[in-house]
Amino acid sequence: MTSPAPAFTVFHAEARSILSPTSGFLAEAGFSHSLTPARNCTFACTYCYVPTMRVQAGLKPEDWRRWGQFTTFKSNAADLLARELRPAQRIYCSPLVDPYQPAEASARLMPPILAALAERPPSVFVLQTRGPLIVRDLDLLKALAGRTRVRVSFSLTTNRDEVRRFFEPHCASLAARLEAIRALRAAGIPVFAALAPLLPCDPEELAAIALRETSGHVIADPLHVRASKPRGATTRPEAFAIARRRDFAHWLEPDFQNACLDRIRAAVEAAGRRFAAGTKGFSWLSQID
Ligand code: SF4
Repeated sequence: MTSPAPAFTVFHAEARSILSPTSGFLAEAGFSHSLTPARNCTFACTYCYVPTMRVQAGLKPEDWRRWGQFTTFKSNAADLLARELRPAQRIYCSPLVDPYQPAEASARLMPPILAALAERPPSVFVLQTRGPLIVRDLDLLKALAGRTRVRVSFSLTTNRDEVRRFFEPHCASLAARLEAIRALRAAGIPVFAALAPLLPCDPEELAAIALRETSGHVIADPLHVRASKPRGATTRPEAFAIARRRDFAHWLEPDFQNACLDRIRAAVEAAGRRFAAGTKGFSWLSQID
């Protein structure tokens, strides 16, 4: 069962631009631009790295102090897209918010965004989400997929629902996510399993779910920790506290994380499929094939 979304407030504000040229991780993964429809994410995941980026993520102090308690939608996103879209762009939506966060249910910003993309299709458009709400926009996604490469990277963070409730209580259960993946695939939309961030799980069982529910390569990323990532975005302190309290602290140790990734890789490759973490894995989403 999913915990009800926390009480959140929805704001709307006009943005100056909607597509940001990429740098760092996304540029290395082959994306030219990112599209972020809102500032602050009402999924409020305890580990979310975005608030740790502060102004680098375009946030205001209220955003990182009250992460997940409100969100500000870019009300003119679709109008801006009509001006900023170009055919060669490879767009990732989004590194800074889930486009199908709880507040999107009433804000409905994504339908006009998808319609604008279909009008002037980029080369690649990737949606990174954990929100079954995406199924609401299936017809628009199908229309866009008829005009360009649309890929959905669906976050599957653990096979253990009690772990999901500890770390991301406002996100949908695994069962609800798998149902959404099936609906997307039945509609012909390519879906990648993104085991990211990798929460405490049974690695072989999670790999088996990814292999069963998707048909392409499998992507992963462990929880960011300073021991292996000295600078930039990192896991929020809230998740460290939960890991300590629930006896999962070893999941934040690089050696243990790598051992888990190796176990998933072995399971995926034994099935004749490919597996990669980090930029290599995410580069599969941006490819023109
Ligand atoms: S869904 Fe993504 S962006 Fe939103 S709070 Fe969770 S990790 Fe952060």
